[in-house]
Amino acid sequence: MKKDYYEILGVSRNATQEEIKKAFRKKAAQLHPDKNKAPDAHERFKELNEAYQVLSDENKRRVYDQFGTADFYNTGSGGGFNYQQFDIDLDDLFGMGSIFGSPFEEFFGGGRKQRNRPRKGTDVYAQVEITLKEVITGTEKEIKYTRLDKCKACNGKGGSRVEKCQTCKGTGRVQQINRTPFGNIQFVTTCPTCNGSGETVTEKCTICKGQGTIQNLHVIKIKIPAGIEHKMNLRYEGEGNVGSNEVRGDLFVEVLIKNDPKYKRVNNDIVHEIEVDIIDMLIGQNISVETLNGTKSITIKPGTNPFEQVVLQGLGIPDLRSKKRGNFLVTIKPIMPKNITEEQKQLLLKFKELENKKNRWI
Ligand SMILES: [Zn+2]
Ligand SMILES: [Zn+2]
Repeated sequence: MKKDYYEILGVSRNATQEEIKKAFRKKAAQLHPDKNKAPDAHERFKELNEAYQVLSDENKRRVYDQFGTADFYNTGSGGGFNYQQFDIDLDDLFGMGSIFGSPFEEFFGGGRKQRNRPRKGTDVYAQVEITLKEVITGTEKEIKYTRLDKCKACNGKGGSRVEKCQTCKGTGRVQQINRTPFGNIQFVTTCPTCNGSGETVTEKCTICKGQGTIQNLHVIKIKIPAGIEHKMNLRYEGEGNVGSNEVRGDLFVEVLIKNDPKYKRVNNDIVHEIEVDIIDMLIGQNISVETLNGTKSITIKPGTNPFEQVVLQGLGIPDLRSKKRGNFLVTIKPIMPKNITEEQKQLLLKFKELENKKNRWI
């Protein structure tokens, strides 16, 4: 059973990013395996990471709030949470001179010591259109999109004859000096010549024109959960463009729901309008209705008012989270008889007379 991420961090469901960060920092200090020798400290620390990973990312958090899990993010490649990424967040939180010193580096497998931290590729956006019927059942779709892959011809190097970068002497980093009113600030940044790889190519690859990457058409099968809403985004981690050291960005798939001429979605209900003869509305009638779950019989009660709704319980759209289905609402639109004959007119006048008489005696 998955624990509640908000509970783990000890924040309310509408906590701000600032509150989440603060809560994480406090709990991380308490639970850090180097400080906390409790047998479950390591496990709890991992749990805390996981909660923070999700809630500190507005996109992930939104999905978590809707689905009660952030697992939709991990349906792409790999899955699971990645300490390499987390290491970056630690820099934000604790600054370069981490308050814990070296234990963090050991704990996170020395990722921080790496000279060239892998840079994530950019994200890719795609769209998919589904029908209202597919919203009810949930569906699987093939998404075709182009993304940057590593060029196989040069193995991502951008060419042959790879040499040590002259700008950074192969370190991948250069020092820069910023002049500010407070004096010169010196900092280390990624080498612009080699983009941090420490190498330059003298003979460019003809396939990728020295880029090291090429655009490929890629196909992925995705699961769309029942109850999804129009314009909701699904994220597939690691399915985007390739970056340095083959770390990929993510794929975002925006789900569009096709307009249906007969059925309208209102939250988790489906509204369907049918035309019914006014005589049937007066005297009552059973009629068949096409729902998105096949033909159903409904009862028009005698004396039904125009635009009254007949409710078919549980034939609407499943809630994303609880999967409880909404209702199917049939709106009764009256149809008036046209070109009344003289005989019909006499009968209706008789009807009116009887109706008035009846009301007088009540
Ligand atoms: Zn360089
Ligand atoms: Zn190439």
